[in-house]
Amino acid sequence: MPNMSLVKNKIPEQDPMVRNKNFKEVALGYTVEQAMDEAKRCLSCKNHPCVAGCPVNIKIPQFIAKVAEGYFEEAYQIIAQDSSLPAVCGRVCPQETQCEHLCVRGIKGEPVGIGRLERFVADYHNAHAKDEVKRPTPNGHKVAVVGAGPAGLTCAGDLAKMGYDVTIYEALHMAGGVLVYGIPEFRLPKAIVNKEVEGLKALGVKVETNVVIGRSISIDELMQDEGFEAVFIGSGAGLPSFMKIPGENLKGVFSANEFLTRTNLMKAYKDTADTPIFHGKRVAVVGGGNVAMDGARCALRLGADKVYIVYRRSEAELPARAEEVHHAKEEGVIFKLLNNPIEILGDENGFVKGMRCIKMQLGEPDASGRRRPVPIEGSEFELDVDTVIIAIGTSPNPLIRNTTKGLETNRHGCIVTNGEDGLTSREGVYAGGDAVTGAATVILAMGAGKSAAAAMDKYIQSK
Ligand code: FAD
Ligand code: SF4
Ligand code: SF4
Repeated sequence: MPNMSLVKNKIPEQDPMVRNKNFKEVALGYTVEQAMDEAKRCLSCKNHPCVAGCPVNIKIPQFIAKVAEGYFEEAYQIIAQDSSLPAVCGRVCPQETQCEHLCVRGIKGEPVGIGRLERFVADYHNAHAKDEVKRPTPNGHKVAVVGAGPAGLTCAGDLAKMGYDVTIYEALHMAGGVLVYGIPEFRLPKAIVNKEVEGLKALGVKVETNVVIGRSISIDELMQDEGFEAVFIGSGAGLPSFMKIPGENLKGVFSANEFLTRTNLMKAYKDTADTPIFHGKRVAVVGGGNVAMDGARCALRLGADKVYIVYRRSEAELPARAEEVHHAKEEGVIFKLLNNPIEILGDENGFVKGMRCIKMQLGEPDASGRRRPVPIEGSEFELDVDTVIIAIGTSPNPLIRNTTKGLETNRHGCIVTNGEDGLTSREGVYAGGDAVTGAATVILAMGAGKSAAAAMDKYIQSK
């Protein structure tokens, strides 16, 4: 008998006023009973619309049916056919606009908690399965991967399983990309990412950290001098954009990237960490995406008394995941919607002492289809803040473009591919993830890494 409850099983969470002072994971995950009960809400629809909503087409009804029967490892094996990072995606995918958006149970009531079930299954597997990694038989071919984010890790994993000798080159001192330097511990414990990286190493993948491709060595040199037959570029979109308003150089102004990297990767929130970070008491985070929410929630946890999200459109246009906005509000983040900064004000020592903003209203839709924010004349006001975190977007770093012969990029600096399997304008060079799409999602980056790996194999085998 299906469970016809109109609402999802709630996922246990830390109390908002407790968790806003610690970096432990917010959501605690389903118990076995809760997972099985939630799985019974799935109707195993014949035409399974949910699957079309998943960018990698995970066989959702099939894995959920196994959860309902209590066969959790079998459920994991079904997910693993299409996804390499279920413990990650179950936590951070924007399910509400993807798989769950198309779930028929969502027509009248809440959709099936597909993401929560995916997370449960992956966590169950990680806790119970014995890791018996069989090293694949080497096929004698050598490939390189630039960047150890979800795109690069997935591509490397798939190629290693086919027998390739794979080396990942990563600019930072740790593998994981945004999963380790951007997304905070309280949303995605780093132990999960580290386990994935260790799994790749066990398959034979070499991970060379602190190597900046384009500075330490170029892609051309990797191919001409080091014997790599193909290269995958998964270098992400880590170059922050700024507002170009007066005061952005003041002390106490951070790009979200810097603020989150210091906090998450360099563990500035721990008393034992060497990394200094400015502990602002009144913090404005400019932007409305996941990055802005993460910045705001980290600032609270670092001890700020007041944290504002300053966003120029309204709540309906906030690009962040609904769950992140909900969690931020619960934790005490104050939303200043339809407000736009026009100047950051400094004191005589060059520190931030406030931010001048102007109120906005929504006009006609712009090229993105969203209603254009228009300033309301004479509505300027001052926000009393000592720290400003700018989270208005990122683009790919031009280093690789500038140091690789014949690599075509578009006007946003994104690498141009054939749009199918990641082949770039340069023979043997493939690309995927944020480096191609601009800032997007983990699951899209992972999917791009997968299809590029298949294409690289085809290319090398046909040479
Ligand atoms: P990245 O994860 O950016 O990895 C690229 C890697 O390449 C990095 O490790 C970088 O150091 C390395 N690199 C760059 N240049 C070089 C070079 N020249 N040489 C060697 N290495 C190099 N997505 C979601 O789906 N859900 C979320 O909740 C979510 N929250 C986010 C929160 C934050 C704060 C941020 C910043 C992003 C978030 N995203 C989220 C987006 C998601 O993380 C990205 O879309 C995804 O990580 C892109 O993967 P990638 O592998 O293409 O790039
Ligand atoms: Fe849904 Fe993401 Fe899982 Fe696909 S990977 S089923 S979109 S949670
Ligand atoms: Fe189950 Fe919803 Fe998918 Fe139907 S649409 S198979 S109810 S998850």
